[in-house]
Amino acid sequence: MSPTPQTCYNCSHMSHDLEKQRHSLAHLLAAAVLKLYPDALPTLGPAVDNGFYYDFDFPTPITEKDLAKIEKEMKKILPSWKEFSGAEVSYVDAKEKFTGNPYKLELIEEINGKGEKITLYTSGKEKTQFTDLCRGGHVDDMSTVPADSFKLERIAGAYWRGKETNKMLTRIYGLAFASQTDLTAYELQQEEAKKRDHRKLGKELKLFTISELVGSGLPLMQPNGMIIRKAIEDYLWDLHKDKGYSRVWTPHMAKESLYETSGHASKFGDELFRVTGGDEQFFLKPMNCPHHMQIFADNQFSYRHMPVRYFEPATVYRYEKAGQLSGLTRVRAITQDDGHLFCRVSQISAEVSTIVQIIKEFYTTMNMMEGYWVRLSTRGDDKTKYLGSDEVWEKAEGALEQSAKENNLNYKIGRDEAAFYGPKLDFMFKDAIGREWQLATIQCDFNLPERFDLSFTNEKGEAERPVVIHRAISGSLERFMGVMIEHYAGNFPLWLAPTQVKIIPVRTHHNDYAQKVFEALREQGIRAELDDADENLGKKVRDAKNMRIPYTIIIGDKEIESNNLTIENRDKGKIGEKTIEETLALFLDEIKNKS
Ligand SMILES: [Zn+2]
Ligand SMILES: [Zn+2]
Repeated sequence: MSPTPQTCYNCSHMSHDLEKQRHSLAHLLAAAVLKLYPDALPTLGPAVDNGFYYDFDFPTPITEKDLAKIEKEMKKILPSWKEFSGAEVSYVDAKEKFTGNPYKLELIEEINGKGEKITLYTSGKEKTQFTDLCRGGHVDDMSTVPADSFKLERIAGAYWRGKETNKMLTRIYGLAFASQTDLTAYELQQEEAKKRDHRKLGKELKLFTISELVGSGLPLMQPNGMIIRKAIEDYLWDLHKDKGYSRVWTPHMAKESLYETSGHASKFGDELFRVTGGDEQFFLKPMNCPHHMQIFADNQFSYRHMPVRYFEPATVYRYEKAGQLSGLTRVRAITQDDGHLFCRVSQISAEVSTIVQIIKEFYTTMNMMEGYWVRLSTRGDDKTKYLGSDEVWEKAEGALEQSAKENNLNYKIGRDEAAFYGPKLDFMFKDAIGREWQLATIQCDFNLPERFDLSFTNEKGEAERPVVIHRAISGSLERFMGVMIEHYAGNFPLWLAPTQVKIIPVRTHHNDYAQKVFEALREQGIRAELDDADENLGKKVRDAKNMRIPYTIIIGDKEIESNNLTIENRDKGKIGEKTIEETLALFLDEIKNKS
């Protein structure tokens, strides 16, 4: 699965320098292709999260084998390219320049139709010269781009402009980083990621199932997977329950009118699942917020009740295109660990601080706090894009920043990145192999309280509008579980491991004693398994290792004689002999501390 790209703080994508370098390399790729295949038609070539691509219409298809030759040509041209010179051209001149290339002509029509400037960018001289229709955004001097910092990766089919009715083009992907070191590090990370792929581990460890009969994007939790999921969900509730949150429950669908009032009907459009019952129309819920608004609305709250906090891990449904679905990370049934707070503007800061503390505790437990960062998304200059008064915005942005400071968050401001309905904090965490994931979020909302006309009575006896804070700690339980499977590479800590301890008697005459140990563990709620099959010891131990079970206890003559247990840990190896009491204390402690 692909994590959040490396971000810079004023745009949602990669650092500007790297983006320029990647996009410039797309030009170089097109130049090399045209050198080798003069009849190929270049179309579009943007920068992407790990490099760049360019789509071509080749009269005769190329294969992956041709990439080496193209890459070699790129590297040959590279030193002769210095700066990119840009020039605005007239519509007529642009069309003339790209005669015979219907793709570029279509783009020119489009740019012209929007009344935008048409610009061409050229690099290289004479034989290596290449000019492309482009908005700009290139490196200052191409010859400074290290030749070993990029490589062509693969080819794929891609419809012109992503539309299935259009012609299928050939997309050439390139990897590109600031240096060769970064490129190598990325390739190693990809290799490691493949080994940890949650779809592969999900099968091996029997965690979840995607059934063709049920449908793609609708994963089913196997008993093993459900243990992990429930442990995460219970832990999330543990972190909230003594902080003034109340559990609520809402159905999976509602009348269309709810989503018309909330605005989600028009916002989600084709992503909504429609349900018909008799002659009534419903939607499967794409969000829990509107439901929670109605729970709040059915109370006569006064300022003394504020803040009001609801918590509900709830499944929402969104239609994602079949081609986009993948494992647990892109699904159609998404369970958010959702919560909504209703508070006064003056209470935002304190409430956000509490949520930040929950997030910190949760991700410390998950061992993901190293290298995390937070984006504080605020309004931009064009205030018409945003809903709500200046005063409320300033207070809310100030409150978010104040909580970020008070909690020593490593935060950056993303100007003009707020949602139209309010400012927010988004949390990015790095997994064990350095991939970045956007997971937790805290969002202020001035819109929904308005749309649902929510109010509480203030000190003066007047109706006052609350602010809503949406918050999710794990994001979605499905995606989070996918991330955790890959983060731990299936080696879950004891508190999450589906089977925590495997008890292996050496021979069948050790079974009785093993059974006693097994029962002692089960009595304490430890998820133990007894492997008393009449099989080879080596095979049993291997099975336990393959299932990544944290502890194994082997029981033979020696153990029965000494009345001690020999314990082996998945990660630390043999940890010596212990009495049964000591063993129980060790396990229970580790589970309780989630270490
Ligand atoms: Zn360009
Ligand atoms: Zn919400």
